[in-house]
Amino acid sequence: MYTYRTLTAGLLALTFAGLGMTTLVKEWKSGMVWPEPEVITPGDSNAPPSDAIVLFDGSNLDAWKGGEKWKIEDGYAISQGGGIATKEKFGDIQLHLEWASPEKVTSRGQGRGNSGVYFMGQYEVQILDSYENETYFDGQAGSIYKQSPPMVNACRPPGEWQTYDIMWTAPRFEEDGSVKSPAVITVIHNGVVVQNNYELQGTTHWHKPPGYVKHAETGPISLQFHGNPVRFRNIWVRNIQPIVGEMPVEETETVTEN
Ligand code: MG
Repeated sequence: MYTYRTLTAGLLALTFAGLGMTTLVKEWKSGMVWPEPEVITPGDSNAPPSDAIVLFDGSNLDAWKGGEKWKIEDGYAISQGGGIATKEKFGDIQLHLEWASPEKVTSRGQGRGNSGVYFMGQYEVQILDSYENETYFDGQAGSIYKQSPPMVNACRPPGEWQTYDIMWTAPRFEEDGSVKSPAVITVIHNGVVVQNNYELQGTTHWHKPPGYVKHAETGPISLQFHGNPVRFRNIWVRNIQPIVGEMPVEETETVTEN
C-alpha cells in the first residue's frame, strides 16, 4: 500500500545535489492493523520489569516446590538437598536469573559449582564454574547440556555474581507425537550471547542422547542441585508471545445483474 505526499507537506524527497534533480519517494506502509503494544516499566539494573513474574526476590522460595530444602541467607538462596521447581508452569518465556559458584574451589571439572536451569523440567542450560576449569565443552556454563557448547566462555571467577538472560521457545508437537517445531533458545551470559536461536535436539541427559517425547505446552522451570552450594538471586520470568496484527479485508463491490 502506497501513500503519496507532496513536496511541501513534510515530504520525503531525495535531492541529487550534483544534478539539481529532485525525485519524489513513495512511502510504503504494510497496511497491517496492529494492537497497541502494552506499556510496561522496565527495571533498573536487572530488576524485574513491571509485567514480570518474580520467582525469587531474596526473601523466600514460596514460588518453588522443594524450596524449603534450600537455605536463604543475605538475600540469596543456596542450593542443597535436591532440586527445586516452580509451582507455576510456563511455555515461551524470557527468564532472568543470577547465580554464583562457591568462592572456595574444592573440586574440578563438572564438580565445580555445578547446577543448572531446566526449561519445562527437562531441557538444561548448564550452570558451572567454567572459570579456568577444564571440562567437556558442551558441559560448560551456558551450554545446552551435551548438545551445544557456549559460543564463548563468558564465565566470571568463582564467587562473583553472574547473569543469565534466556529466551525460550517451547517445542510444539503434532497430534501423533512428532515434533512440529523444536525448542529454540537464546542464552545471554553476563551480557554476552552464548547461544543464538539454537534449535534443541531434544531433552538433555548425562547418560543418553537427546530426544523429544511429546509433552504438555507448559512446564516448570527447575534449578538443579548437583552437590555444590550454588547461590541464586533475582529470578524473574516473563511470558512472551508475538504481537499479532491483521490485514483488513478489502471490501469488493458486488454487481448484481438483473
Ligand atoms: Mg548441571
